[in-house]
Amino acid sequence: MMTTDGPSTTTPDGLAPGSTATASRVAPTPAERPLLVEMHAITKLYGRGPTAVQALAGIDLEIRRGEMVALVGPSGSGKSTLMHVLGLLDRPSGGTYRLAGRDVSRLNSAGAARLRGTNVAFVFQGIHLLPSLTALHNIELPLAYGRVPKTQRRTCAREALERVGLAHLAQRYPSAMSGGQAQRVAVARAVAAGPELLLADEPTGALDRRSGRTVLALFQELHQKLGLTIVVVTHDPLVAQHAERIVQMEDGQIVSDTRVTDRLLAAAAEGDPSTTLAVEERAPA
Ligand code: ADP
Ligand code: MG
Repeated sequence: MMTTDGPSTTTPDGLAPGSTATASRVAPTPAERPLLVEMHAITKLYGRGPTAVQALAGIDLEIRRGEMVALVGPSGSGKSTLMHVLGLLDRPSGGTYRLAGRDVSRLNSAGAARLRGTNVAFVFQGIHLLPSLTALHNIELPLAYGRVPKTQRRTCAREALERVGLAHLAQRYPSAMSGGQAQRVAVARAVAAGPELLLADEPTGALDRRSGRTVLALFQELHQKLGLTIVVVTHDPLVAQHAERIVQMEDGQIVSDTRVTDRLLAAAAEGDPSTTLAVEERAPA
């Protein structure tokens, strides 16, 4: 678990997945939570010379622990690049990035891999489950890389499967799962080790609407019950509306950063289908 040197009036490391946090716990208001992500003037250049592409053109971004952020914007605006930098998969060309109080802008690849392994988890659009492994074994595999002892791996994997509502599919192979089920297993795999930051790049992009919604509801639940910090890239206005905060990118820059009103958030949390529809019908700004 990472530590923070930010000012904190609450538990320093928020609510880790697997903790005994319940919905009845009084959550700190967003402004009181410690910062997990602090980016300043982040740039990313691909290539060099006249053909160089500036994928990120000066990103200032702060994300507090326990926030759920929807990252939106047109194709090519830099969303995936930002996710890669956030998740320590790629280094920025310039600027500073502090993750949980630690400067990670210039970590070498071994250092980045070490931090990433225990603290950051990804869910991608394509569902990358290994076809030769059962649901349970798919979830256990990264725990093995993370050097979690074998008995603990099994427990963590089972808990994660339960958390996504698929305990009954423990022995199922991916070929016998629906797209939505497979993506939920991928989410279980992502959260099994108890990451601080969950990054999802168009996680519902390959799913039909209904499965997409189930996965969306799952993110919402992980966010609310476990206090997990989530950044989700999406083109789906409904997904974006369910996040408490919407960050919009264009041409490698953040062009707006807004919080969804408390009313919408509360309605979404209730899962009221009529409100969900009402939210969905709101045209994206
Ligand atoms: P988005 O996810 O919003 O569609 P990306 O972050 O994938 O945007 O891409 C941002 C810009 O950077 C685009 O112009 C894209 O073509 C370019 N780009 C992304 N990855 C690479 C790469 N590996 N090499 C060169 N250019 C890239
Ligand atoms: Mg992308």
